[in-house]
Amino acid sequence: MPDARRFRRRLTVVAPLAAAGSLLLTALPAAAITGGAGVGDPYFPDDGNSGYDVTHYDVHLGYDPAHPDHLDGDTTVTARATEDLDRFDLDLKGFRIGTVTVNGRPAREVTRSGAHELVVTPAGRLPAGRPFTVRVTYAGTPDHEGWHTLQDGGADAIGEPHGATSWFPSNDHPSDKATFGLTVTVPDGWTAIGNGVPGRTTSGGGRTTYRWSEDRPMATYLATVAIDRFTVQKYALPDGTPVIDAYSPGALTDPATPALQAEIISFLSSKFGPYPFDSAGGIAINGITDEGTPLALETQGRPTYSGALFDVSMVHEITHQWFGDSVSFTDWRDGCIAECFAQYANQLWDEHLGADLDTGFYQWVLEGNRDNPTFWDVPLYDAGPGTELDPALYDKGSLMMHALRRYVGDDTFFATLKRWTADHAYGNASWPAFEKLAAQVSGKDLNGFFRAWAHSTVIPPQKYLYPGSLAKLRPGAH
Ligand SMILES: [Zn+2]
Repeated sequence: MPDARRFRRRLTVVAPLAAAGSLLLTALPAAAITGGAGVGDPYFPDDGNSGYDVTHYDVHLGYDPAHPDHLDGDTTVTARATEDLDRFDLDLKGFRIGTVTVNGRPAREVTRSGAHELVVTPAGRLPAGRPFTVRVTYAGTPDHEGWHTLQDGGADAIGEPHGATSWFPSNDHPSDKATFGLTVTVPDGWTAIGNGVPGRTTSGGGRTTYRWSEDRPMATYLATVAIDRFTVQKYALPDGTPVIDAYSPGALTDPATPALQAEIISFLSSKFGPYPFDSAGGIAINGITDEGTPLALETQGRPTYSGALFDVSMVHEITHQWFGDSVSFTDWRDGCIAECFAQYANQLWDEHLGADLDTGFYQWVLEGNRDNPTFWDVPLYDAGPGTELDPALYDKGSLMMHALRRYVGDDTFFATLKRWTADHAYGNASWPAFEKLAAQVSGKDLNGFFRAWAHSTVIPPQKYLYPGSLAKLRPGAH
């Protein structure tokens, strides 16, 4: 987690000098202590906020597909002040703000600033170390960065890296993870799907209210709600973990999906360690009307897909449950701790189905791009703002994973992955920490390997392209 104190704003008060040249100062008015407008992300300095740590979100929404340009929200954020606070920020884009209360008392002042800052001045100072709650009611048209309308009027909330600001006030940065409760009221006949496990569903006055809870800490961009006339399928994994799949009208359903999804989770668990969440499943959305919406996103415990639950996208998004969701970014330079692994998992799955990765995937992709400098010119760590999820993290990233596996050997490679997911479960970690762990578990100096693969903008030298058992495949080797 970045050092929030570096970014704290203190309003300094200049004391008037006493008369006659005395250096004695008159009584200083107490300085106002305010949380920062950003948590200090190198790429998105305004994302998240400093001065507090969120423990839980309780998000209540009202949505009517007959009026898809309108969302009613009532969100309570439970947090702990990490310093004395006279004022703090939440991240929320747009909306008309109704009431804002802090610990049940109306806020003294609420203002907006920047792209998404909601600046709250509570009635009194919030003492460091103490919990507090802030409740915000809001209504209006959600911003389309993270809120997407479906053709039939339904809606889907997904957006990385900062889509959460489009639908609930938050500390919008993956370094501040929190548990999550969601309550959504929609007209009868519509269904609301969220993260985690379902709670009670109640009906009255032509409306149905759905409740969901995610009891494992979750980064804000992994929170989701999907509203549609869903077909819902419920079953369980062999260990009893509940699975809930939801299909929009027109999305492809396949009777083989439940068994396939269970097999994928079982296979990935054998490689990465126990499945980290209390629920599983997928949401197959159909008919998103705005362009630029991600085709799929690893929304926690229940990834979101476009049109169907295909094996390729299920393997990728379910892998994120370990890499990216349970173990989250420290900041947005860390894309590789999610995408490099998720993309390589598709190769692991192909291998499980019989593929030879050395002579197939690895040699084919590597040699096919040997003379293509743009394939190599993005570093996998710290890829840059706006390119934090550059295609290199997927393409070059999965090659690096295979090269690392061959460099350290299968046993060491998979032991490293299991150590990583266990050591950082439900927390945050950075790519440099992975490099360190890989070196520690293998007992090898991996500095040269990682410098060439993860930090360089040119093709790695031959010894890192074809290490270990790959050496026999070097062009020219016999
Ligand atoms: Zn991904």
